[in-house]
Amino acid sequence: AENVVGLKTLEDCSAIIELGKKAKNIVVIGAGLIGMDAISGLLHNKEINANLSLIEMSNRLLPLQLDKISSKIYEEKLIENKVNLYLSSKVLKANLNNENLIESLTLEGDLTIPCDLIVVATGIKSNTDFLQNTKVEFDRKGLIFNEKGETNIKDIYGAGDVSGRGPIWSVAVKEGIIATSNMVGIERVMDDFFVCKSTMNFFGIPTLSLGDQSLYENTEGIIIEISENENSYKKIAHKDGYIYGAIIQGDLEYTGVLTQLIRLDVDISKVKKSIFNIDYSDFFHLDANCEFQY
Ligand SMILES: Cc1cc2nc3c(=O)[nH]c(=O)nc-3n(C[C@H](O)[C@H](O)[C@H](O)COP(=O)(O)OP(=O)(O)OC[C@H]3O[C@@H](n4cnc5c(N)ncnc54)[C@H](O)[C@@H]3O)c2cc1C
Repeated sequence: AENVVGLKTLEDCSAIIELGKKAKNIVVIGAGLIGMDAISGLLHNKEINANLSLIEMSNRLLPLQLDKISSKIYEEKLIENKVNLYLSSKVLKANLNNENLIESLTLEGDLTIPCDLIVVATGIKSNTDFLQNTKVEFDRKGLIFNEKGETNIKDIYGAGDVSGRGPIWSVAVKEGIIATSNMVGIERVMDDFFVCKSTMNFFGIPTLSLGDQSLYENTEGIIIEISENENSYKKIAHKDGYIYGAIIQGDLEYTGVLTQLIRLDVDISKVKKSIFNIDYSDFFHLDANCEFQY
């Protein structure tokens, strides 16, 4: 059907705007970062006056980046802006009209919603087709390479989104530099402390997310600490003294300290004050092993 668009290129973006101007009902499928970008763009475009819907099969927006509390604020903003929000909802079927256009979507629970433009933002899939029938190793997510960019075959290197892991620009660039350096004999290794690292600013509310939220919540032995007031929400997950993931929303002042704690591999079990009250002066107490000494 011609009224279904992804969001990957500038052409996709132009197509959404052009089709969106004529549409009465626009549906975005998927509330990850790209789905949220799409719905925000549609909301902010004054030439688009359609009824907007957002469908997400998880129980919250941005399930990889946010937990239920931090996603709630964006949920409220979408509802305030009259977006029809369908959480814990899976699209089962697209219903075509005589002109081969999708006129409605059937969701789980036998709910049918009308649409004349659909933006699909349900995730990425690495292009590994050309590796079929070769000896180069890849898995369900994508190409497999080590911290030097080396694949299992000598002299074949990889970098970026093709790995299907941590698909962000900064990681792709860094991995590209590392792989090409090693290819020409300059030894370099990837030392990025977090592959899943996102910042967002939907509706002017800033949030930083580190780590895959859906993963660490279910990891045994993880300790989760939360600090909340009316201006900010902070959550840090740690295990055996090391930070596994975090969410900072609203007041992002603490992210500098947090980043240093992670970058320097600081063992926070040695910290004798609240994890949310550490400041730069505390770093003067670090010994050579990055342990806190008071
Ligand atoms: C809508 C959108 C918004 C985004 N926003 C952000 C953001 O705010 N911040 C951020 O950090 N990241 C963002 N990203 C992700 C970021 O764009 C990617 O992580 C980054 O572009 C990855 O770079 P790459 O070189 O690995 O892959 P790509 O940029 O995808 O480049 C891969 C290239 O390889 C080509 N190719 C594929 N298969 C073959 C083949 N078999 N032979 C030859 N060529 C091939 C493709 O055509 C493409 O040109 C966004 C992505 C999208 C789609």
